[in-house]
Amino acid sequence: MAKIRRLTPTHPRMFRAEVVRTERVSPSMHRVTVTGPDLSGFPWLGYDHWFRLFLQLPHQQRLRLPEFTGARWWQPYLAMPDAERPHCANYTVADFRPEAAEMDIDFVVHHGPDGELAGGAAIWACAAQAGDALAVLDQGILFDRPSDATEVLIVADETGLPATSGILRSLPRNTVGRLIQEVPTEADRRTVDAPPGVAVTWVVREHPMAVPGAAALDELLRHTSADAAGYAFIVGESTLATEGRRHLRALGLPKERITFSGFWRHEIHQAA
Ligand SMILES: Cc1cc2nc3c(=O)[nH]c(=O)nc-3n(C[C@H](O)[C@H](O)[C@H](O)COP(=O)(O)OP(=O)(O)OC[C@H]3O[C@@H](n4cnc5c(N)ncnc54)[C@H](O)[C@@H]3O)c2cc1C
Repeated sequence: MAKIRRLTPTHPRMFRAEVVRTERVSPSMHRVTVTGPDLSGFPWLGYDHWFRLFLQLPHQQRLRLPEFTGARWWQPYLAMPDAERPHCANYTVADFRPEAAEMDIDFVVHHGPDGELAGGAAIWACAAQAGDALAVLDQGILFDRPSDATEVLIVADETGLPATSGILRSLPRNTVGRLIQEVPTEADRRTVDAPPGVAVTWVVREHPMAVPGAAALDELLRHTSADAAGYAFIVGESTLATEGRRHLRALGLPKERITFSGFWRHEIHQAA
């Protein structure tokens, strides 16, 4: 089967950077723009290009990074003492301007069971100030559409919105298919640069306490057939990713024509 290249770097590079500015682009999305002396060399590929984000811990005066060579960053990272090991989370390049060496990162602002801001990365983003240090470890792209795919079906919750926006912008203009994009509120919808043949369906959650991804999954489950020569990309809360894949497999889409990734896992909180 003809494929586009699977673009995961074998020797990922780490880029140190610092915050330039921040902006609340919608009620649930906080954008942090970063720059760095070598960031103009970031090998941006468009699509859903993602990276590991390293952040200093609240008590630290400076960002400590794992020493590594080659592809093995995980063991050196785990070997760091707890008090020094930076917070690490996965994010997508929302936009990149090589001439200014600037990268935009869009953080979903998420909350815990009592409504408090939650998540090391989300909390960091909402408090970020110009000059704050960070580092990004290039991880390439997951989107892996075979070049002979007849159509694309893209499904995501809000954590996948930077990825789906980038994919739509990067796809050949003659691509046909559909995006099902869930967002927490109406005001989180944004303008996307989709090829004319790609229909865009926004699914706005009706209840603030609904589990993210469930509404997008419901919309996907309305599909009662799938073109076996198509391609699907499903990312977001892990149930959306796994159940979405299961549904499309049952409709006859071959597994090698489905990319799915649980971007995060919803935790069920028990009342005390
Ligand atoms: C390839 C890839 C690309 C990604 N790109 C992006 C991106 O561009 N923007 C983005 O916002 N996220 C993105 N994510 C998802 C992001 O990595 C997770 O949401 C991550 O858990 C956020 O880290 P944190 O430090 O804020 O929270 P953590 O410390 O990891 O989690 C703390 C708590 O928050 C919960 N939680 C985590 N994320 C959410 C959420 N979105 N909504 C509700 N509860 C949540 C967890 O279940 C946990 O209980 C991506 C993930 C992957 C794998």
